[in-house]
Amino acid sequence: LFAGPVEFLKGVVAMQGLPSADRAEVCFAGRSNVGKSSLINTLTGRKALARASNTPGRTQEVNYFTLGESHYLVDLPGYGYAEAPVAVVAKWQALLKSYLQGRSTLRRAFVLIDARHGVKAVDEEILTLLDKSAVTFQAVLTKADKIGARDRDKVLEQVRAALQKHPAAYPELVMTSSETGDGIATLRAIIAGIS
Ligand code: GDP
Repeated sequence: LFAGPVEFLKGVVAMQGLPSADRAEVCFAGRSNVGKSSLINTLTGRKALARASNTPGRTQEVNYFTLGESHYLVDLPGYGYAEAPVAVVAKWQALLKSYLQGRSTLRRAFVLIDARHGVKAVDEEILTLLDKSAVTFQAVLTKADKIGARDRDKVLEQVRAALQKHPAAYPELVMTSSETGDGIATLRAIIAGIS
């Protein structure tokens, strides 16, 4: 699906460090523990790819991966760490804002939502920032294997209702599981189709 290497490129801590804007890129955001690293690993078919972004010191970086030569996949730091120092959060927020508002090749953000929990207050901040930045975002439900069919309908309804308040929200949701591989091919195809 992606011609060329799928690999970790670099961690970026400031706008000047971004690779040249020469291809379409998508970013992944989600509260910590939502299953973002697992999803990126499964999506890329590279088991330890996103682990780099979870190693200490890397957690506040914007991590770039190549999806062949056509796309960048950008792993944004997980949010909602209760223990993160105020100064670290402030610095990160500033970079996030500059990135979302200033990256001309950013085509879509995928916001990961735990299928067991739906959209939480902690997610609203990034959704609002995406609205303000006019970055289209698509909700990706994670850990779908952890819920049954009935809860699935309930959470989909909750997420759809929450997204209605967000002008930048893309209407289509994707339900995924890194455990079973559900929805992974769909998500891969969605990204490949973005240019
Ligand atoms: P991150 O902090 O968002 O990068 O989350 P991780 O990818 O590290 O996952 C957090 C925890 O959830 C780990 O224990 C994973 O094994 C687990 N997890 C992630 N994705 C899935 C999934 O699709 N299904 C299940 N059952 N567990 C998952």
